[in-house]
Amino acid sequence: MTRADCVRELLSEYQARRAQNEREQDARIAEAERADPEIARIREESRSLAFDALKRIMTIESEAERRALAEQMRQRGIFNNGEIRRRLRAAGFPEDYLEPRYRCEICKDTGYVGDAPARFCDCFEAELRRRMHEDGSMAGTDEQRFERFDPSVFPEEGGQRAQMLAIRRACEDYADSFPHTKYLNLLLTGSGGLGKTFLLNCIYERVASRGFPAVRVTAFRMFEAMRRQHMANSPDERGFADLIAAPLLLIDDLGSEPMMRNVTVEYLFTLLNERMAARRHTVIATNLDPVQLNEHYGERVASRVLDRSLGVAMRLSGRDLRLL
Ligand SMILES: [Zn+2]
Repeated sequence: MTRADCVRELLSEYQARRAQNEREQDARIAEAERADPEIARIREESRSLAFDALKRIMTIESEAERRALAEQMRQRGIFNNGEIRRRLRAAGFPEDYLEPRYRCEICKDTGYVGDAPARFCDCFEAELRRRMHEDGSMAGTDEQRFERFDPSVFPEEGGQRAQMLAIRRACEDYADSFPHTKYLNLLLTGSGGLGKTFLLNCIYERVASRGFPAVRVTAFRMFEAMRRQHMANSPDERGFADLIAAPLLLIDDLGSEPMMRNVTVEYLFTLLNERMAARRHTVIATNLDPVQLNEHYGERVASRVLDRSLGVAMRLSGRDLRLL
C-alpha cells in the first residue's frame, strides 16, 4: 500500500472509532439514566431550556437583555451539570461518566490537530509509520516471500536470529505441507516490529503459489466484514461468509480492530468456532499475549485462539527491527 492508501484506511478507522466512542457514550448515559431517572429528567430539562432560550434570544432586541438571558442560561447549565455530577457520584458512577471518552485526548480521535492547515496528530503519524514499516505492513506484500527472508536483519544478540530462523522453518513447513499440516492453526505473537506480518505474508504467498485458495486480511478489514454482516439485511452479503469458508485464513494484527459491542467478540467467536469445527486452517498474528487475549476477548474466544490441541503458538521476542 502507498502512504495515501494507508492514510485513507487509517482515517476510516478513526471515523469508526469516533462512532464507537459515541455509541459507548450513549450506552453510559442510558445506564446512568436507568440507575437514576432524575438524571434523565435534568438532562431533558436542560435541553428544552436551552432550546427555548435560543428561540427567545433571537427575538430580544436589547443587547443587555440578551446578555442577561445568556448569563442566566449559563448559570442554570452550571447548576444542572453540578446536580448531574452529584447524582452520578451518589449512584456509584464517576463524575465524568457521561462525558465523551477518547483514545487520544489530544486529537479527540479525529487524527488531526491545529486549525487550518491542520496536521496529523502524533498518534496518527505513529500509527501510520507503524503500518508503513511494521514488518512492511501490506506494503509490497509480494516482496514478502520466504526466499526473501534475510536472517542478517535480525540481531544475533539474545538469540533473536536463531529464534527467527527456527520460527521461519516452522512457518515454511506449515506452508509447504498445507493442507496436511501438523497443526491446524498457527499463532504468531510478540510485540510490533519483530517480523510477524512478514512471516504471515510469506505463508500466504507460498500457499497461494501452490495453488490453494487463501484469504489474507488485516484485523480491521475482518472487522469491517463483520460490521457489514451485522448491519446487512441482504442475504448476499458475502464478506463474512467468505472468511468462514476460506480453506486458509490469515488474520494480521488481531487486536487492532475496533471493539464494537455485540459484534467484535460474537462474530470472532463464530468465525473461529465454525472454522475449527470444519477443520479449516487459520493463521493469526497478534501483539496480544495470552493474558491480554483473555482480557480483550474473554475466555470463550481466547480459548479458541490458544487451543493447543489444534494449533501451535510461536512467540517472537527481541528487539524491534524498526528501531535498530
Ligand atoms: Zn491523536
